[in-house]
Amino acid sequence: DLMPIRRALISVSDKSEIETLARALHGHDVTILSTGGTARAIEAAGVPVTEVSDHTGFPEMLDGRVKTLHPTIHGGILGLRGHPEHEAAMHEHGITPIDLVVVNLYPFESTVARGADPSTCVENIDIGGPALIRAAAKNHGAVSVVTDPEDYSALIADLKEYDGQVTLGLRRHLAGLAFARTAAYDAAIARWFSEQSGDPFPRHMVAAGRLKQILRYGENPHQKAAFYVHGLARPGVASARQVQGKELSFNNLNDTDAAFELVSEFSEPAVVIVKHANPCGVAVGETLADAYQRALACDPVSAFGGIVAVNRALDRDCAESITRIFTEVVIAPDADDHARAVFAAKKNLRLLITGVMPDPEAPGLSVRSVAGGLLAQTRDTGRVTEADLRVVTRRAPTDAELSDLLLAFRVCKHVKSNAIVYARNGATVGIGAGQMSRVDSARIAARKALDAAEAAGQEEPATQGSVVASDAFFPFSDGLTAAVEAGATAVIQPGGSVRDEEVIAAADEAGIAMVFTGMRHFRH
Ligand code: 5GP
Repeated sequence: DLMPIRRALISVSDKSEIETLARALHGHDVTILSTGGTARAIEAAGVPVTEVSDHTGFPEMLDGRVKTLHPTIHGGILGLRGHPEHEAAMHEHGITPIDLVVVNLYPFESTVARGADPSTCVENIDIGGPALIRAAAKNHGAVSVVTDPEDYSALIADLKEYDGQVTLGLRRHLAGLAFARTAAYDAAIARWFSEQSGDPFPRHMVAAGRLKQILRYGENPHQKAAFYVHGLARPGVASARQVQGKELSFNNLNDTDAAFELVSEFSEPAVVIVKHANPCGVAVGETLADAYQRALACDPVSAFGGIVAVNRALDRDCAESITRIFTEVVIAPDADDHARAVFAAKKNLRLLITGVMPDPEAPGLSVRSVAGGLLAQTRDTGRVTEADLRVVTRRAPTDAELSDLLLAFRVCKHVKSNAIVYARNGATVGIGAGQMSRVDSARIAARKALDAAEAAGQEEPATQGSVVASDAFFPFSDGLTAAVEAGATAVIQPGGSVRDEEVIAAADEAGIAMVFTGMRHFRH
C-alpha cells in the first residue's frame, strides 16, 4: 500500500508554506518539477527544481494558459504502475512517472469577490491545474495529490514515518479532497456565469462551498452539523470575524444571519434583536444606543439570550446597554475600542465584525433543502417605498404614520408568516410571528405589547396610537379588527383579497388609515 515519491510536480498560486514542503521533499531526494512562478519560489528557498518546460521540451505559452497540458506530464501522472503496456508506452515516449502532484488553483473565487472585471475573472479560470489534480486523484493507486497548503503537514508526516513513501489511506483521502476541490471550483465558476447571464436557475444547481467549521451539533444535540461558505460570499455571518466569545452554534449562526439581514434594510442607525430567527425588537434612532433601548422595549422578556445586530460601528453607549442583559451574539460592521473593551468583560458573548454591510437589494439566491431536493429562489429584494403605496381608506396616513408603516412592513419581510408587526415612533412595539392564522398573529402581537407595557409599569400598551403591518392580505376583517382594538391607527398590507372591500369598510368604520403595497412578503 505504500508508494514511494521520486518525482513531484508542484504548481501553486497560493505559495504559502511552499518552501517548507519543497525542503521536506528535497530531504527525501524527490526530484521537483515546477511551473514558472512556483519554480522561482522554490529556487528562492534554495531547493533544486526543474522547470516543466525543460522537462517537456515545450515552452509555457499563451500567457500561461498552456503550461502543463502535455503528454509527458499527464502520461507521467496517469500511467499505471506495474502495467506492462502502460510502462512500455511510457518508455517509448520518454515519459517518466510523476508520483506527487501539488497544485492549488488560480484564485477565481477571490478574484470575483474583489469585484474584478469579467475578463480578469475569466483569465483566473484555471484549466491545467484541475486537469493535473483530477489526473493525480484518478491514479491515487500510485499517485498522491495535494490541493491545499493545509494538507502539506499530513503528507510530510507520512514521508517521514514511511521513509519517503505515502500510505494508500492518505492517498485515497487526498484524492477525495481533490475531487471535492475541483467540483467546488467549477461550481463557483458556473455560479458566476449564471449570475453574469442573469439566469439564476441553470440546468444543474451547484452548491459551491468550503467547510468553515464543524459545529458542535445541529439544531439539536443529537444532530451533527457544519458550516459551509462559498467564495462569492455576501457580507454577513459567513465572512464575519469573531472577535471574542464562545464558539458559535448552528442556531447562533442561523439567528445571527436573520438579524444582520434585517438590520441591513435600514440606512439610519438601527438595531435588531432576534430570537429563534424572528425579530423580537427592531428600532431606528438618533444613535445606536437610543435604537437599542427602544428595540429592547418591544419585548424585553424574549430579548433575553437574544442576538443583536446593528448597522454601524458599535460605540461604548450601545455596548453598555447591550451587555446589561444576557446576549448570545452581537454582529456589527465594526466596533470602536471602547465598545470592544465593554464586550471584553463578557467573556462568553460572541462578537462578530463584518467590516461592511450587505446590500439589501443585491441579487442572490436563497436555497433550502426539501426531501430529495433543493428549493431555490431569488432573494426577497422587494422593498416597498412611499411611491408604491395606494391609500384605500377615506383617511390617508399622517407623515408620522407613514414612516412607521414603511418600517413595520420592512420588518414584516423578515418575520416568519403569518407576520403582524406593530410600530410606533420608529420602533416595533408588538410582533406576532409564525402563526397558522393571521388573526392569531395579530392577537399575539397585541398581547405581547400589553405584557411589555405591564412589565414597564405603563398605563397602556405601546400599540395605542401605533401602526400595524401585515405580510400578506387580511383574508377577513377580523385580523384588522383585532389591530384596531389594540389601538392601531393605520394599517399597511398588500391587499388583493377577495374580501378587500369588507376589510376597507371595517377600516373606514374605525376611522383608521389603510394603504395597500401590492407586494407581499411571505416567509415560511
Ligand atoms: P506559477 O505561479 O507556477 O507560474 O503558476 C501556478 C498556477 O498555474 C497554479 O495555480 C496551477 O494550477 C496553474 N497551472 C498549471 N498548469 C496550467 C496550465 O496548463 N494551464 C493553466 N491555465 N494553468 C495552469
